[in-house]
Amino acid sequence: MPKVLIAGAGLVGALNACYFAQKGWDVEVYEFRPDIRKMEHVPGRSINLALSDRGKAALEGVGLKEYIVQQGVPLYGRLVHDKDGKTFHRIPYGQPGQHIVSINRRHLNEVMITLAEKSPNVRFFFEHKVKSVNVEKQELTVICDGIELTQKAELILGCDGAYSAVRRSLAAYPRFDFAQEYIEHGYVELNILPKNKDFALEPNAFHLWPRGDYTMIALANRDHTFTVTIFAPFRVFEEQMSNDSDIIKFFEENFHDALELMGRAHVLETFHRVRPQSLVSIKCKPHHFGKSVLLTGDAAHAMVPFYGQGMNCGFEDCLVLSEIIDQHANDIPKALRVYSETRVKDAHNIIDLAMYNYEELKDLVNHTSYKLRKKLDLILNRWLPETWIPLYSMVTFTRIPYSQVVQNRKWQDDLLRRVHTSLFLGFLAAGSAIGYLLVKKRNLL
Ligand SMILES: Cc1cc2nc3c(=O)[nH]c(=O)nc-3n(C[C@H](O)[C@H](O)[C@H](O)COP(=O)(O)OP(=O)(O)OC[C@H]3O[C@@H](n4cnc5c(N)ncnc54)[C@H](O)[C@@H]3O)c2cc1C
Repeated sequence: MPKVLIAGAGLVGALNACYFAQKGWDVEVYEFRPDIRKMEHVPGRSINLALSDRGKAALEGVGLKEYIVQQGVPLYGRLVHDKDGKTFHRIPYGQPGQHIVSINRRHLNEVMITLAEKSPNVRFFFEHKVKSVNVEKQELTVICDGIELTQKAELILGCDGAYSAVRRSLAAYPRFDFAQEYIEHGYVELNILPKNKDFALEPNAFHLWPRGDYTMIALANRDHTFTVTIFAPFRVFEEQMSNDSDIIKFFEENFHDALELMGRAHVLETFHRVRPQSLVSIKCKPHHFGKSVLLTGDAAHAMVPFYGQGMNCGFEDCLVLSEIIDQHANDIPKALRVYSETRVKDAHNIIDLAMYNYEELKDLVNHTSYKLRKKLDLILNRWLPETWIPLYSMVTFTRIPYSQVVQNRKWQDDLLRRVHTSLFLGFLAAGSAIGYLLVKKRNLL
């Protein structure tokens, strides 16, 4: 059987391991961290994640969808909290019943590692740091206890996240395009504990506090807590949240209702303990190198988290790769070329959409024109479910390639613009005709 070396046992590395385990390949996964199943506290990014249809489809491919979805909390739409802390409005995600699922990152990762490990042909090597990849020799070099080990395989997958060592070692590869952008915003995670052993806020909604330049979100967890994330420019963290009284003042002014639920002591303790984390967006092209090396997940396309698609897109990578390898009867060099051709443009499109969605989350949701467009999209979608699918629904509730999603949205916008212009001209013409007839009639009288 062919062999695959996987760099990174995060979400995408672990799912890739499950896919190749199913195919009967020899799988070796090299992970920098200790085994997270044995760790008390796992440092790192967001505690919970929104799973949508692309991610679900990929989990279904390894038989995990039902189990993971059951472990999560369904979210049916956004619940937008106004500044007064008392009023809010709802924006459904799609048609009744359509939802995303809030799931626990650590649990998901653990379940996938355990599933992959059940296959005798899969081995995980924890506390092994990937150093580099050699495309020509089809080799991966890892370091453990200061000793370098080099392994060879038919396929090498870089799934080692946004700061990928595999990608870094490919920087000098001919015609490799790479672009990285840090946005001016950072984020801090907080918590809302249960109230009387129950959820302190409505659990089945994505809570949103849009405040123009900054925003805050909260997603429910199964243990009745909420993970709250505040996103703000680093400048705002530094200038307006630099000491205890400023932090409390900032939260009182902007997120009064949430502050009461989080508690002042928790907010201050968190800001003393953690610093705002940065958010990076990474585009590269191609995703494959030579006959055997491929980047997937954040290593290939880190994106800002505002569309909740980073993991979903990474999971879809695993599914697409598996399908393409099957279609090409294990001809890996050909499969990798085909994968790169289709997936690069999709990755670039969702990276751009994720940037755009931040405008929506921090500000646009408050605009009347935005709310009207959302309503119009949902009405048209109900009448023409196959033809008119709103942007958010195409990204979240379908597997339409991201590049096609962007094309579809363009024709929808063009059509609405033309209808708008025609209606305007029609009203203008009708108004002029009526005016002319009235004037004429008065002159005749
Ligand atoms: C605040 C926030 C919220 C988010 N919310 C969502 C969401 O709701 N929905 C969604 O779909 N996405 C979300 N994302 C994005 C999501 O977290 C990522 O897209 C996802 O984690 C990518 O998985 P990955 O396996 O590619 O990378 P990672 O999760 O980063 O895993 C990489 C793994 O590689 C290991 N590694 C790194 N370097 C090495 C090395 N040199 N050698 C060996 N191992 C190494 C790491 O230890 C890690 O285990 C969010 C991101 C952030 C920051």
